[in-house]
Amino acid sequence: MINIFSLTFKELSATLRRHHEKGDFHAAAIYRQVFKNGNTGFGELEEFKDSPELAANLMKEIRILSGNIIDVNNDGALKFVTSLFDGNIIESVIIPSGNRTTLCVSSQVGCRWKCAFCATGALGLKRDLSVEEIVGQVFSAGFTLKRSINNIVFMGMGEPFDNFDNVIQSIRVISDQHGFNIAPSHITVSTSGHADGIARLRFPDLKNLRIAVSVNAPVDNLRSRLMPINRLFPLDRLKEELKLYPLGKRGVFFIEYVLFSGINDTREMAEALAVYLKGLPVRINIIPCNTIESLPFTPPSTEHVKLFCSWLAAKKLFVRIRQPNGRGIMAACGQLCASIDRHDMHKCPSRIIN
Ligand code: SF4
Repeated sequence: MINIFSLTFKELSATLRRHHEKGDFHAAAIYRQVFKNGNTGFGELEEFKDSPELAANLMKEIRILSGNIIDVNNDGALKFVTSLFDGNIIESVIIPSGNRTTLCVSSQVGCRWKCAFCATGALGLKRDLSVEEIVGQVFSAGFTLKRSINNIVFMGMGEPFDNFDNVIQSIRVISDQHGFNIAPSHITVSTSGHADGIARLRFPDLKNLRIAVSVNAPVDNLRSRLMPINRLFPLDRLKEELKLYPLGKRGVFFIEYVLFSGINDTREMAEALAVYLKGLPVRINIIPCNTIESLPFTPPSTEHVKLFCSWLAAKKLFVRIRQPNGRGIMAACGQLCASIDRHDMHKCPSRIIN
């Protein structure tokens, strides 16, 4: 079985060579048809004129996951839900901004880390997504929802480095120049601080991949309460791995800091954060938290958010307030699947083509 959504162009070509005595010529046609045209029919392609059986077989083996639009946010972010072959549900969000259209993808169904502020964590981990299921989200956004995606963030459900191999392979497929051609420099992997994952990330072909780290607290005791992953990878260990990471010349780490009123938004916290980040090339995104009925967190006032940023800026740190895209449909950071249990699974079936 050839699963095209899981293979880079080179791998597809090698597979065709091994099993069908075909190679780059046919692989290029398939890749173009699927990833550029969003079409899984190969029968009419010029390149398959002399091998209609192969075209028919390949068409049988492609599964396309579709998304169901459930709401449209006021600021234009669009969340879509995909029901997987086993009935599990994932969510993805499309966020247009200027000439960029970003797709926020999920890497797992649920998540094992149970961050105190995160609706996904409350689900627990159900399973990792396959390469096909991750790439399928990009396909759905591009061809089912007809959005021209040019930026990807792994910031949906799940900790990407807990599903390391599938996430890395999906990035290779998504960035393949014969297909979607979204360069690694336009792909961000957002981790909750998985130091082992950062340590494993040493791939010359992905050296321009962007890395975002959710810090959210600059001291271990508070961070461990907010983000249990900190018990396994405390702040010192995380910083050690960030220092060892071979960033490109002008590369930076994107530091995500979700602000919770009265918890991590004091001047002392800002100063401790500045001390923690010292020596690292960073850009800090400050994100006022979302309010979720069942969780005891509220965002600080707009004035206080600005004040917190000014404390960091005074330490010569590059800081910006992140626009809460998707807030209206609960699709901002760490809160993507707040509504997932309320969906009727039968309303969003996966679509099997051919
Ligand atoms: S914030 Fe990220 S790591 Fe934490 S529970 Fe949610 S998905 Fe998992």
